[in-house]
Amino acid sequence: MVTARTPLMAGNWKMNLDHLQSIAFVQKLAWTLKDADHDYSQVEVAVFPPFTDLRSVQTIVDADKLDLVYGGQDLSPHDSGAYTGDVSGAFLAKLGCAYALVGHSERRTIHGEDDAVCNAKVQAALRHGLVPVLCVGETLEQREATETPSEVAVAQLLVGLEGVADDAELVIAYEPVWAIGTGRVATAEQAQEVCHDLRAALAERFGAERAAAIRILYGGSVKPDNVAAIMREPDIDGALVGGASLVVDDFAAIVRYRQHVGA
Ligand code: PEP
Repeated sequence: MVTARTPLMAGNWKMNLDHLQSIAFVQKLAWTLKDADHDYSQVEVAVFPPFTDLRSVQTIVDADKLDLVYGGQDLSPHDSGAYTGDVSGAFLAKLGCAYALVGHSERRTIHGEDDAVCNAKVQAALRHGLVPVLCVGETLEQREATETPSEVAVAQLLVGLEGVADDAELVIAYEPVWAIGTGRVATAEQAQEVCHDLRAALAERFGAERAAAIRILYGGSVKPDNVAAIMREPDIDGALVGGASLVVDDFAAIVRYRQHVGA
């Protein structure tokens, strides 16, 4: 289905590729997409490298005038000060980042980030002109223990967006934890069901018009061979891709889902 929302294909590299590898990767990705005549205004392409790669990615994007955009995998809820190991949204903005991931399930589970922390990070991103990509999604246990599949994701969304201005630019990523890095992709119908409920919650929070403009991505074992079915769903506006985003040809094929599968 065609919507007014420009699809966004976002590659989350996690803790993979050092700064030298990031340069080679971004160049190869850009060449591959150029060879294929990819139109970035039709499908936006973003990568989320480790922090230590960002300056290198910025340099190559600027020098080669690439249309792909990039972001941080996380950011501090604070702007500056005695927060050892944290990275300020101000620094990410200075490096030309367009986006910042917030509340990826690996941050929530490994680093114990709760919805209040995610909310502070969303606010921090917005303070620095970054578009937060707020990740929400249920574990398998939560899915089995709740009445509707969307209950956990909607609750995470509402707390994560507390105090956010009605006109703030946002991206939401629905990532069922049981589908991340497991090879167990949600069916297109399962993904659509939750993304629909997330959009309904956004409509209650921000109004229908604003909700219709916010992009909702699906993430969880997205690959070239399953992306087209997911992208046919009306409330899914792109994908947050982990493993497959580390293979140039696979990620390029995901970006070009319309061409190679006729979606
Ligand atoms: C992710 O890291 O956000 C993700 C969805 O990973 P994968 O595509 O490997 O499941």
